[in-house]
Amino acid sequence: MNESRNKPLSWAVVGGGFAGIRTAMLLAQRGEQVTLIEASDGLGGLASPWSIDHVEWDRFYHVILLSDRYLRSVLKDLQLDDEIAWVQTKTGFLASGKLHSLSSSIDFLFFPVLNGLQKFRLGLTIFAGSKIRRWKPLEQILVEDWLRKWSGDSTFEKIWRPLLQSKLGDAYQRTNASFIWAYIQRMYSARRSGLKREMFGYVPGGYRRIFDALGPHLDRLGVDVQTGTSIQAVSRNKDGGFQLGTESKGVKSEVVFDRVVLTTPSSHIASVTTDWTDDERSRLTGTEYLGVICTSLLLDRPLAGYYVTNLLDPGIPFTGIIEMGSILPMEKLDGNYLVYLPRYLMSDDLGFDDSDADIHSRAIQTLKRIYPGFQAEWVRAIRTARAKAVMALPTLDYSNCRMPVTTSIPGLYCLNSSRIVEGTLNVNEVIRMVDEEFNPGIWSPHLALCHDERAS
Ligand SMILES: Cc1cc2nc3c(=O)[nH]c(=O)nc-3n(C[C@H](O)[C@H](O)[C@H](O)COP(=O)(O)OP(=O)(O)OC[C@H]3O[C@@H](n4cnc5c(N)ncnc54)[C@H](O)[C@@H]3O)c2cc1C
Repeated sequence: MNESRNKPLSWAVVGGGFAGIRTAMLLAQRGEQVTLIEASDGLGGLASPWSIDHVEWDRFYHVILLSDRYLRSVLKDLQLDDEIAWVQTKTGFLASGKLHSLSSSIDFLFFPVLNGLQKFRLGLTIFAGSKIRRWKPLEQILVEDWLRKWSGDSTFEKIWRPLLQSKLGDAYQRTNASFIWAYIQRMYSARRSGLKREMFGYVPGGYRRIFDALGPHLDRLGVDVQTGTSIQAVSRNKDGGFQLGTESKGVKSEVVFDRVVLTTPSSHIASVTTDWTDDERSRLTGTEYLGVICTSLLLDRPLAGYYVTNLLDPGIPFTGIIEMGSILPMEKLDGNYLVYLPRYLMSDDLGFDDSDADIHSRAIQTLKRIYPGFQAEWVRAIRTARAKAVMALPTLDYSNCRMPVTTSIPGLYCLNSSRIVEGTLNVNEVIRMVDEEFNPGIWSPHLALCHDERAS
């Protein structure tokens, strides 16, 4: 190892989602020799594109906020930030079988679901959440208790419970109050930037365009990208480096690196080595993940024009309606109106085993109930994606239960999205998490040590 100190270290970054991509970029910028290893055939992870019929767009719905400064700075480097199309959006609510707009203060005034006092308490809750800066104490309170305290029982039952269930399923009962605080902060950040209304953006061409630009960018930085390669085991060498067991197209092999950063979900990290301490293993296996089943539809016409329709009525087989077509003009999608129907559920929920045919037929039957006149013939194409590890559930005292970046195994780091505690899960937060880890002022001791070691 002494000899290699004067040479760049070889780093394996495992996982080609945004956490892995950003880690690889920053290590390469520091002069390290980086290999980015991704199991699927392309980069992007949850943000990756796919095709529905012949139309290519994001597998899961993605928008950019004006306040997403970490993501936008990466897009600037790729010369894509100026191209973002910004659109003012509307929000809808389905309550007692009727659709209502809740997109302006006037809408709020006439919103029939709540009475005057309930509206006042709801407004107060959001205002209070937006003013809180010390978020850590919120981790000790259940989100339900915090919302009931500020909004009252009736507003909780009418609004908050259905909203929490739509994002977290029944796991909302174990979720801490920092979850809702982070949501309020994210939505307020657009208004803090001087706007009264929400503006959402997308890069024309979607995330496909972003990854098409990222590929050559990683190439210029000297990052060796290996897709279609799954990491199955990581073991320590006698010389302090690592041996990685890989599988690519059914062929197993071993590769050697000086350092390894794992950005994959915690259950995968737990499985790659038996060398974790009991404490580390229990942190990794104790992280509960929320997943999503998300159906994309290409329609021949618009629905109601709300970007998000929140569903307050019970018995609906998805947990929200995202009309991507409300911000993405149909002519940019070959004359199609793109709609997503997400259903969030815990990663071990049996719902993941439902067949596509069942999910599609339930979706179309339900859309017929919600939108008068909706016909199955409007659907030109339909396709369902599933992801089991989307977001780590922020349970009580969550930040103290996370796996640290610097592990008990020198040279092996864990930097996945389960580290995020001060924000909702989105690409901007993932990039911020990585950037803050590499900021020299708050660099983690081991990352700093590797660097110093070599310099000495
Ligand atoms: C329905 C939905 C809507 C969303 N909406 C938005 C939005 O509007 N705006 C926004 O900014 N963000 C949004 N997000 C969140 C955003 O997509 C994620 O925050 C981000 O993509 C997470 O990146 P990541 O690298 O942490 O994880 P991932 O993208 O999950 O990356 C992990 C990678 O590790 C790879 N991997 C796993 N196992 C192995 C292995 N054995 N070997 C090698 N590689 C492996 C996986 O294939 C994957 O590519 C949304 C997500 C979902 C699911």
